[in-house]
Amino acid sequence: MNTGLPSEKQKFLFLKTFGCQMNENDSDRIAGLLKKMEYTVIDNPAAADIIILNTCSIRYNAQHKVYSATGRFRKLKELNKELIIGIGGCVAQQEGEGLFKKIPYIDIVFGTHSIHKLPELIDSVILRRKKAIAVEFADAIDLEDSFDYPLEGSSVKAFVTIMRGCNNFCTYCIVPYVRGREASRKSSDILAEVRRLAENGIKEVMLVGQNVNSYGNNGSDISFPSLLKAVCMVAGIERVRFMTSHPKDMSQELIEMFAAAPKLCRYIHLPIQSGSDRVLKMMRRGYTRDGYLSKIDKVKKICPDISVTTDIIVGFPGETDRDFEDTMDIIKRVEYDGIFSFNYSPRPETEASRYDGQVSDTVRRERLAFLQAFQKEVTLRKNKAMTGQVKEVLVEGKSKAGHSDELTGRTGCNRIVNFCGRRDLIGRVMPVRIEDGYSNSLKGSVVLEQKKVDGGLQKRMIYDA
Ligand code: SF4
Repeated sequence: MNTGLPSEKQKFLFLKTFGCQMNENDSDRIAGLLKKMEYTVIDNPAAADIIILNTCSIRYNAQHKVYSATGRFRKLKELNKELIIGIGGCVAQQEGEGLFKKIPYIDIVFGTHSIHKLPELIDSVILRRKKAIAVEFADAIDLEDSFDYPLEGSSVKAFVTIMRGCNNFCTYCIVPYVRGREASRKSSDILAEVRRLAENGIKEVMLVGQNVNSYGNNGSDISFPSLLKAVCMVAGIERVRFMTSHPKDMSQELIEMFAAAPKLCRYIHLPIQSGSDRVLKMMRRGYTRDGYLSKIDKVKKICPDISVTTDIIVGFPGETDRDFEDTMDIIKRVEYDGIFSFNYSPRPETEASRYDGQVSDTVRRERLAFLQAFQKEVTLRKNKAMTGQVKEVLVEGKSKAGHSDELTGRTGCNRIVNFCGRRDLIGRVMPVRIEDGYSNSLKGSVVLEQKKVDGGLQKRMIYDA
């Protein structure tokens, strides 16, 4: 990534991403499209010719952050009338043309299905000096040329969008309204993208979609397990992950993949949202707590060392103390490796926002704090229990915290491990002995091989062999 003031010829893009992996992948595509237009990505908005915010509206707080961020760029626009400010993603899709009224100094609004139109929207602003908008939903997934984005040089892992949208309409969720109905990419296009990533040094791909288990039900030519098998066979790819799975759609065939595909990481994120059958029904999740637990049992039977994480919404309308106890009961039974937990946030258009029995802020906060404190102890205990084990770690880069010679990577079960090592290990899968566990990460050291040399023991890094 470059920084600094632009020369006369160069054009600069500042891109800020909010939200989930889907948005991160969309931002890679946005950056790629603008690189083709000869923009260079920088991390200094004051030097940018274009500022783009790729937004999230899944919760009120996420949406509010977008408005705060745009406020900071108003001054830049006043100083530089040529500066183009664009807003894309879920907030843009939700607000549409109304966003120009709310934030009059922005130039472009583009929705979740319109990323590929960004170059023509930018050209239109530059040539016609008029605001530009594209928020229509498309039946098919975006044009494939927007997936053909240039890669940043040092990356070792990448997201690959395999489908988008959702047909489930859980009563609290805005996704079907801002991402549209499910649509899958053709398997041949996905595999071409994975091959291209592998040729560019990527070692790990995460297949992403709002509900990847639905891949195969909506226009795709093969099932999700078949796609996983094919992706695992791509030469150069060493690890494959996927996110997010819907418990009701997780098939036995998919569960068995954890035993059948060695490249598939032993990690699954399976959102339960609530442990109460009553609340699950009000959420329209399509499964019961027993059904969910039986799938967890099946996964753990096939793959006992699998790491499981989940999402939980606390304080859904009508949630009683008893319902919350049911949620805590599930958490205790499953012993998740990690939980992404949030207070319920009413979203426009959703059914649940009109439900009676909204839970007070105080109660929601108390329940969330209780749940998070409990889970923090579980995660810490599980991380500490890994002390002494040797784990395969894909080395991702320099550690953000800690010493300058500290590297960071992830185990197959998705735990962050920090350890000392040479920078040329980045991009390699290394055996690392875990020395300690903390709340959010592990500390380790690269395993050394010992061999007898001239009657004495000589240690060497096994990767030097
Ligand atoms: S499955 Fe439910 S929570 Fe997930 S994206 Fe679809 S509607 Fe939203």
